[in-house]
Amino acid sequence: MRKIYNFSAGPAVLPEEVLEQAREEMLDWHGSGMSVMEMSHRGKEFMSIVDKAESDLRELANIPANYKVLFLQGGASSQFAVVPMNLLEGNTQADYVHTGQWSKKAASEAGQYCSVHITASSEQDGFNSVPPLEQWHISSDTAYVHYTPNETIGGVEFQWTPDLSVAPGGNGNIPLVADMSSNFLSRPFDVSKFGLIYAGAQKNVGPAGLVIVIIREDLLAIPPLPRTPTMYRYKTHADQASMYNTPPTYAIYIMGLVMEWLKKQGGLVAIEQRNIAKAKLIYDLIDASSFYHCPVSRSDRSRMNIPFTLSDSGLDEVFLKQAQAHGLLQLKGHRSVGGMRASIYNAMPLEGVQTLATFMREFEKNHV
Ligand SMILES: *Cc1c(COP(=O)(O)O)cnc(C)c1O
Repeated sequence: MRKIYNFSAGPAVLPEEVLEQAREEMLDWHGSGMSVMEMSHRGKEFMSIVDKAESDLRELANIPANYKVLFLQGGASSQFAVVPMNLLEGNTQADYVHTGQWSKKAASEAGQYCSVHITASSEQDGFNSVPPLEQWHISSDTAYVHYTPNETIGGVEFQWTPDLSVAPGGNGNIPLVADMSSNFLSRPFDVSKFGLIYAGAQKNVGPAGLVIVIIREDLLAIPPLPRTPTMYRYKTHADQASMYNTPPTYAIYIMGLVMEWLKKQGGLVAIEQRNIAKAKLIYDLIDASSFYHCPVSRSDRSRMNIPFTLSDSGLDEVFLKQAQAHGLLQLKGHRSVGGMRASIYNAMPLEGVQTLATFMREFEKNHV
C-alpha cells in the first residue's frame, strides 16, 4: 500500500492494482519471457494486448462501429495542429469555443492553418463558467466546432454535450471536435454526438506518451492540407490500425490494464457516481467555509480538477507544506492562477479525498 495521495493534474495517479500488475508482469509477460517493453509491436503477443485494450475501450465507451480508435503520440498538444490539418477540407474557417487556457492553445495553433472564429467565450466572467448554447454563434462556413469539455487549469467542466443542430448558426452536419484529455472516461458520453474526440492518456487513463483519437470514419475521407506529414494524417494510422510506425507500446499496455480496472469498477456509470461523490466532499467543504474559496460557478464545476484559494494567500506555503507532511502531494495550483488545485481523477481513491477533506478542515480550524 502506498502512503501518499497524489493530486497532480498530470501525469496523474494511476490505480494501485494496475501498477502492481505491471510490476508482476514486468520481466515476463504471460510466460512470453519478455517485458512488454521489449516486444515487437507487430508480434502476436503485443497484437493481443492492443486488440484487448481497444475492445475494452470500445465496450466501456460504447463506441459505434463507424468510429476508428487510433493510438498516437505527440500528446494532446500535437492534435491542436493535426485536427485542422485533417479536417479543414478546403474551408478557411474553423470554430473554437473559448473557455480557458487549453481551448485557447488549441485555437491559437489552429490559427496557423485557418481563420479561427470564436463561437463563444467565457472571458467576461474570468473563465469561471461555460457559455450556454444559446450564446454560441457558429460561423456559416466553418469546418468543425472545437471545444474543451474539461478545462484542466480553470476547473471548468461542461455538464452537457453541445448539440450543434440547435446551436445558433449550427446544423447537424458540422463535426463536433472535443479535447477530452482531462475528463475522458470519467463519465458516460455519447460518442455518436462527436466527429472526433482526442485525449492525452496521462490525466485519466494511463502514462504520458499516448494520445487516443476516436474519429468518425467519414472524416477520414477528407483530404488533409497539402504537405501534411504522413505521421500527421489520421488516414495513415486508421489504415494501418495504429501500426504505421512503432506506437507507444508500453503506454498502450498500461492503458489496457486501466480499461480492465475500469470494467471491474463497474464501467463509466459506476465511476461517474464515485467521481460525483468525491468531488462533492471537497466542494461542500469549500462552500460551507469562508476560509476556502472556489471561483467557478456551481453548475460548471469540474469533477476532475478542483481549484481553490485560501482567504489569506500568505498561508499557501504553510498549507502545502503541512499537506505534504500528511501525505497529500501536488496540491499547488497551476503557476498561472496560483492557489491550490486538487485533481481527483478516476484513480484517486475515495479515502484520498476524505483524507484531504479532513486535513482542510483541520487547517482551517488552526488558522482562523
Ligand atoms: C494536459 C492537457 C493537454 C496537453 O496534453 P499534452 O499531452 O501535454 O500535450 C491538452 N488539453 C487538455 C484539456 C489537457 O488537460
